[in-house]
Formats: sequence, structure tokens, C-alpha cells
Amino acid sequence: MRTTLSAILVTLVAAGGVGQPTALTSAKSVEATLDAKEQELEQLYATYWQIQYQLEQGDTSVSDKDVNRKIRDVVNDPKFLHKLEAAHFEDAVLQRRRQLFLEVATDSQISTDTDLATLVESIRKDGSAIRYKINGKLLDRPELDNVLGHAVDRDLRRQAWYAQADLTTLTGNRIREAMKLRNRLGLRYTRENFSDFILRRRATNRRDLSSWFEQIRTSTEPEYRALLSRMQRELRVEKLEPWDLEYYFSTLRPELENKFGLEGAWERTTKVASLLGFDFSRLPVAVKITDITFGGYTMPIWYGKEIKMLVSKHTGIRFADTILHESGHALHFSFVQEPTFILRDNYPPPMDEGLGQTMTLMLFRPEISTTVYGLSSDEARALIERRRLESNYSLRALMVQSEFELEAYDNPQQDFAALYDRVCSKYLGVDCHQSNTWGYDPFYAAIPLYQQNYVLAEMFAYQVHHTLDQRFGRNWGQESGSYLHDKFLIRGGSLTLDQIMHQGTGEGLSAKYLVAALKAEPAVAAAKSESK
Ligand SMILES: [Zn+2]
Repeated sequence: MRTTLSAILVTLVAAGGVGQPTALTSAKSVEATLDAKEQELEQLYATYWQIQYQLEQGDTSVSDKDVNRKIRDVVNDPKFLHKLEAAHFEDAVLQRRRQLFLEVATDSQISTDTDLATLVESIRKDGSAIRYKINGKLLDRPELDNVLGHAVDRDLRRQAWYAQADLTTLTGNRIREAMKLRNRLGLRYTRENFSDFILRRRATNRRDLSSWFEQIRTSTEPEYRALLSRMQRELRVEKLEPWDLEYYFSTLRPELENKFGLEGAWERTTKVASLLGFDFSRLPVAVKITDITFGGYTMPIWYGKEIKMLVSKHTGIRFADTILHESGHALHFSFVQEPTFILRDNYPPPMDEGLGQTMTLMLFRPEISTTVYGLSSDEARALIERRRLESNYSLRALMVQSEFELEAYDNPQQDFAALYDRVCSKYLGVDCHQSNTWGYDPFYAAIPLYQQNYVLAEMFAYQVHHTLDQRFGRNWGQESGSYLHDKFLIRGGSLTLDQIMHQGTGEGLSAKYLVAALKAEPAVAAAKSESK
């Protein structure tokens, strides 16, 4: 690729050599370099993702150090970045590519800073090495999570809850340092706050987030309060504690879990996709069910040409849910249609996660769960109600993680245990006992300011389902699949999230369809009308 790049530059110098270089020839030469750099990045990212694919599966014989350095060299090229910034571009696509490339470069300057990268790596290592001591046993993260989510013994869950703070004790100071350092690097490279810059990279902003979080919290407050009373009654406890909340959902209609086995999960997912006219057997998607850190991970080795999906071996509803979510990423990475790599690779994250959730929500449409998953209509209704209750909690838990992080970046000096307690009781309505558990969240060090995407993804998915229902009725076929394809799945970075939502749903991203789903009546009503 480097040879090609110099060849192009030589040709351009020769062509422009007759007179003084004009603004046009200089813009042309910047464009040629941009083309070459994007092609080079596409090659490097293919290598990068191949390595991630192996690393994720525990292959320790490979390292991404070399490819990371090469990517950094292509992107961090001050002379070129200066020319790119100054170039006079008429074409809107070119202007968008410039904007995205400059943002990618700034992002890379910050995240590859040597001190920051060292800090983040040390936090990650300690996070995976730590064992939590519960009841005389040493547990790793999945085991601890399992106690919190499933242990019938309340005192065991209490111990597990407090044990999360062990990780804060070990890495909390370094997480705080990483936040301070990102703030300093943000001011150095962007002349704005790190959080403002990153939120823009992630296709959102502080003002919208605050107002959506507030809307979701206040308009579902009666439902959430009702849920808390129900938990208290059914768990027979005097006072609800943080270690009761997640566990409660494992007690709701647990027999539904047996309806979703590991066997045939991918086949059922492809069946759901085929209802929409998408044929996975003809898409460049390889699926492997294995054991990885995250529930699922879909990697765009080459957009449109080679997609690899890893899904952790779980069973039950969670597995069916995850594999559908990953299939949404796979459809997006297969279908994205953009003229260049930077545009394919810099899609709005809330849309990409939202396309995952758009597929996940299929599981909660009775016309699909009764046919593809073989539930009775009573089970289909129970599944929707269980998800509604659980989402009332899980979206609040996400907003806690996200709001805590935003406020932490605002003032990284403050007492984080006190901040976490304040945000925790605001959303969850329980006392978090100054337990200092905030450092248990792995995103804070590794992927800053990302978790709001999961709230926005949920908004996106309900909004898209609403639009498709309005246009095509309840039983979606190939034409709704085509609509999903043309309005969303082919999108990358050319349009903003706002433009995509307006073109696809007639309005900007909105919380109202999510809020409606979190309230009882619509979900029940939809299920009732279906069972007729
Ligand atoms: Zn995802």
C-alpha cells in the first residue's frame, strides 16, 4: 500500500508541475492521499480484526501491537492532517470524509497516548486476574455475576455485591487517573472537553442524553415503583437491597428459560432473518459458538465481504437474545453501502447497536416467538411481560453507569463512592451503602463513554419497530426487510444519526416508543390483539 501511495503522489506532482499549484490541484492531491490512506487503513483493519478474532478465543501466540502501530502511523500524520484541514473541498461526501478522518485521528492521538495506553492495559490485566473471595471461595467475574443474578441465598448475594468493591480498591485510583489524563489529552488535541468530543464521535451529545434520561426516568417512575413493591412482596423482604434487584428476574417464569436451548439457536435466528428476506446462507458471515469475555462479538473483517461472529455458550433467553443482537450487527456489516472505508467504518454507534436490538426485539413479537420459537400464546405474553419488567430495571442500571461516568469526567477529583450512591438511588430507588462498587464496570477504563449507546439502541429499536408496524402491519415480510435494508442496514457515516432517523422514521431519535413499551398497557395490548 505504501508503494501505491507514493506512486500516486509522484503522478500528481508531475501533473501539477506545469505552473503554480492551484487550490484545485492541491485539493486533488489531498484527496488522493486521503483515498490511499483509507485503502491502507482498510487493509490494516482486516489484519487487526483477524488478530482480535484469535485473541478473543484465547490464542496467545498473536499480538496486535504491530498492527496498532501501523494504524497509528497512517492516521497520525501531522503534515497530511494539516493539509486535509486546510483543503478546499466542494463535494459534500469529501467534506464528510475529511471530518470523520480528522475525528478518527484525534481519537487515535488520545487513545494511543503512551501513558494512557499503559494505564488502561494495567487496569485490564488486574481486572482479569482478580478473584473475589465469597464464603471462603475464590470466584472470577462470570462466577461473581452468576451469584448476583441467580443465588437464592440472600446473604451470598450481599457478599457478592460488596465484593465488587475489591476491584475498585485495586484499580479505582488508576481509573480516576485515566479519566484525568483523558481530560488533559482532550484539551490538548481538541480544544474541547474530552466527554463532549467523544459523545460527538458516538453521534450524540450531553444535552440530548440528559433530556432522554430524564424523560425515561420520570415517565416510567410509576411502573418502576410498582416493580419495586412487587419485588419486595414476592421476595418477602422488609427492605429491598441492591443485591435483590437483578436476582428477582431469575425468579420470574423461570420455566421459560428451558424453551430456548443452545441447540438450533443459530438456525432459529436465520429463520427470523429469512422472514424479512435476508438469507444468511448467502451472506459472508461465519458464526462460531464458543467462550469469550463478552456475550457476543461481531467483527467486520471486510465490510460486505467477510464478517465473523463469536457468541458465548450460554443457554436460555439470554443466548437467544444475544445471538439475535449479533445477527443485527452482521446484517449491518454485510449490507453497508458507502463509497469509502472511513464512511463504512464510522457509522453512528447508536444505530449499529440499535440494529442489533431491532433483531433482538423480534423475539418479543408473538407472531415470531410462537412460530419460530414454538411458544404458546400464553408463554409469548409472559415473555413480553418479563422483558418489560426487566427492562424497567436494566435501562435504569445502564443510565446509572452512564450518568456516573459523565459526572466523573466533569470532576474527577470528587468522592466517587458518594457520587455513585447519589446516582444509584436517583435511578434505582435503593440505598447503595457507599459500597464503592463503581470500579467493577469494565467500560470505564477500556471503552470510555460507550454505555449510553445501549440506552439509545433500545430507543432506536422500538422506534424502528413502530415505523415498520405502521407501514407493514404486524406480520412483517420481505418488503419490511427491504425497508430496513434501504433505510438503515446500508448506512454508514455519510448521513448523521438525525438524518438517518428522519429518512427512516419521519422524526429524530425519540424515547417515546421505548417509554411506551416500558409501560404495561401497549405490550399487553399488542399481545392480546395477536392472540385473537
Ligand atoms: Zn452490540
